[in-house]
Amino acid sequence: MSEILDPKRTVAELKELRAFSGDADGAQRIAFTPMWAKVRRWLENKLAALPVEVHTDAAGNLWATLPGESEKELLIGGHMDSVPNGGWLDGCFNVIAGLEILRRISTQYGGRPPVTVRLVDWADEEGARFGKSLFGSSATSGTLDMDEARGLVDKDGISLPDALKTQGIDFDRVKDAGQELENAAAYLELHIEQGPVLLDLDLPLGVVLGTCGVERHAITFHGQAAHSGSTPMNRRKDAFLAAAKMSPEIYRIAEEYGGVCTIGSCTTKPGIVTSVAAECRITLDQRHLDPDSLAAMYAGAVAASEKFAEEGGVAVSWERLWHIEPIPFHDDLIELCDASILETAGVTHRLPSGPLHDAAEVARAGIPTVMMFVQSLHGISHNKIEDTTEEHLEMAVAAFDRLADKAVGWISSRR
Ligand SMILES: [Zn+2]
Repeated sequence: MSEILDPKRTVAELKELRAFSGDADGAQRIAFTPMWAKVRRWLENKLAALPVEVHTDAAGNLWATLPGESEKELLIGGHMDSVPNGGWLDGCFNVIAGLEILRRISTQYGGRPPVTVRLVDWADEEGARFGKSLFGSSATSGTLDMDEARGLVDKDGISLPDALKTQGIDFDRVKDAGQELENAAAYLELHIEQGPVLLDLDLPLGVVLGTCGVERHAITFHGQAAHSGSTPMNRRKDAFLAAAKMSPEIYRIAEEYGGVCTIGSCTTKPGIVTSVAAECRITLDQRHLDPDSLAAMYAGAVAASEKFAEEGGVAVSWERLWHIEPIPFHDDLIELCDASILETAGVTHRLPSGPLHDAAEVARAGIPTVMMFVQSLHGISHNKIEDTTEEHLEMAVAAFDRLADKAVGWISSRR
């Protein structure tokens, strides 16, 4: 199969895409815009050379199907949409690598592989325009909150249902896309890491164990406003002081449990230079792949907030902003991914994904799923400086192709 697969072509096609869909500020493939539609037509042109059936589903996801001996399906996915001023790899590398693998499988099996193989380009993974990511995949998995999505508007006041209409998509029918998963037996997604873990370990590729669960809260400390000149230090009920003590503590908690915790926002009232803070609101985002550890990190933060509130003579209240359970990937597919990386790169690594991906939605729908990460230079994405060496991109295509090959065998053996 290695003679048929051409990873250099994937890199060339990524450059071809970058040349017409980006500018000096980065990638501009924002979902449901004319450029995004142009990118889709470019992809369809590439697919036209293959014996595949291509259609767009009820949620705007593009599917290319190579029918096989079995109707059981291997799905390979990614997203062509980007954030504004985005990177040249996030999402589209997955799709274009998948295209190359589709070519290899079609050639190897004379257009008729043992199982059906499908490439999916998910619609609006980034949620850049309406602030809600994973649109196409969550419509397909059935987890999309229709009432919330119906109310989304972009910065020009255009609603999501109206924007979808311009793409020929009927908002009320988007969950009909769920029927696309009827015969799905496995889902594979390749992605740049978007963080520095593989870079720091000097490793090209890693197996993703799942996406982290998230606990997201607003914590408000309630003290008392008092004049900054006349109030002695020992007489203050300083809401900011209690909140500030949370900062080193959440680093300690993250270290103890091996997760990540972030205080991303801090606002005070009355918020003036001459008053002790009467109120201080911070936001806390906690992530972990293990549900028990996530619960322990949350409990630890609650206990710390109560301790610091008591010490400072202030009150504290918690409000949950968002929550999602960890979504583990499939054990068998993790093993196959691990083996594929080892065979290609000679060394492998297992890591969780902090960000959510379309793969998490497919896994939530009950489809055995795994992701492979390729090293990201600078550990940065959603930025024009996002990059990966060409050597690593080619290695990723080769390893991901091995995974696809193993997955075809795995699906066949489960019949
Ligand atoms: Zn992405």
